[in-house]
Amino acid sequence: MDEFDLIRRFFAHPVIRKDTVCGIGDDCALLDPRRDQVLAASIDTLVAGVHFFADVQPEALGHKALAVSLSDLAAMGAEPAWAFLALTLPDADPFWLESFSHGLFKLARKFRVELAGGDTTRGSLAISMQVLGWVPGGRGLLRSAARPGDDIYLTGSVGDAGLGLKMLQGEMEWRDEAVLERLLRPLPRVETGMALRGIAHACIDVSDGLAADLGHILHASGLGATIRWQDLPLSASVRRYIEQTGDWRLPLYAGDDYELCFTAPCSHRLQLEQCLPSQEVPWHRIGKIEEQQGLRLIKGGKMITLQQVGYRHFQND
Ligand code: ADP
Ligand code: MG
Repeated sequence: MDEFDLIRRFFAHPVIRKDTVCGIGDDCALLDPRRDQVLAASIDTLVAGVHFFADVQPEALGHKALAVSLSDLAAMGAEPAWAFLALTLPDADPFWLESFSHGLFKLARKFRVELAGGDTTRGSLAISMQVLGWVPGGRGLLRSAARPGDDIYLTGSVGDAGLGLKMLQGEMEWRDEAVLERLLRPLPRVETGMALRGIAHACIDVSDGLAADLGHILHASGLGATIRWQDLPLSASVRRYIEQTGDWRLPLYAGDDYELCFTAPCSHRLQLEQCLPSQEVPWHRIGKIEEQQGLRLIKGGKMITLQQVGYRHFQND
């Protein structure tokens, strides 16, 4: 099986979108733009040994490679349209590829995303996924758009993916499949992001940890915030982990949860309740944006200053 057989067998498919003029198979994809909207574009790379274990189920990897990129579109309030996959593989294992493409296309179908092209090379296992989506002009959810007095909200719960990683690393004496699922197959909050257009001010997806990612909003907006420990949405497993270890920082600093953290003025509370059906994706108010710089946590009656840092590539070089 050479490169062209591989593309044909596992990635080429009949075009699914009307605005895909030309998909996989030519030198470029041809895409029909929307006149009244702005194109949102993002790319993310997953490297074996850095972002995932090389022996992870390929189906989960195909899912996650697309999910993390769609999460960036969600954080902008964009509607996903196309994806481009740059795949670097040590060898062309048909079982691996079948499973990988199954995971990828299953998620792509869910959001009507067209895989419109890519590149295939031989080398150490790495996956880059570019995504393109649409957002009505002026309605993209910018990190810089937080305002003093905004409430801060979070979808779902945080810390689960970080706890899942500890389970995979053999640090835990118990396992929870739901927690592992959060790490292996995160669900991008695409509908929530789109529903927040015109209601939320700032928005970001939590990929590097809540403190780091909320920190990006604060930095970009030139503001600070206080969040309350008692209001943080934590799963039963994360609570159990904290009770056992005392490590309450996990949900604040562990990454990979791909929830949305957003800000909105109190006056938009009713609109939020109408536009975000909480039974599908729960959401909670966790704190407030303030003029005073820095990120503060109220926990057990004490005020703790949080470092706004997450995982950084190259930091120890
Ligand atoms: P070129 O040499 O002209 O760059 P390629 O041989 O790289 O073309 O790719 C042939 C076609 O297959 C192109 O349409 C490209 O977008 C697509 N393609 C290549 N690799 C992938 C992949 N991993 N997933 C999806 N499409 C791919
Ligand atoms: Mg090429």
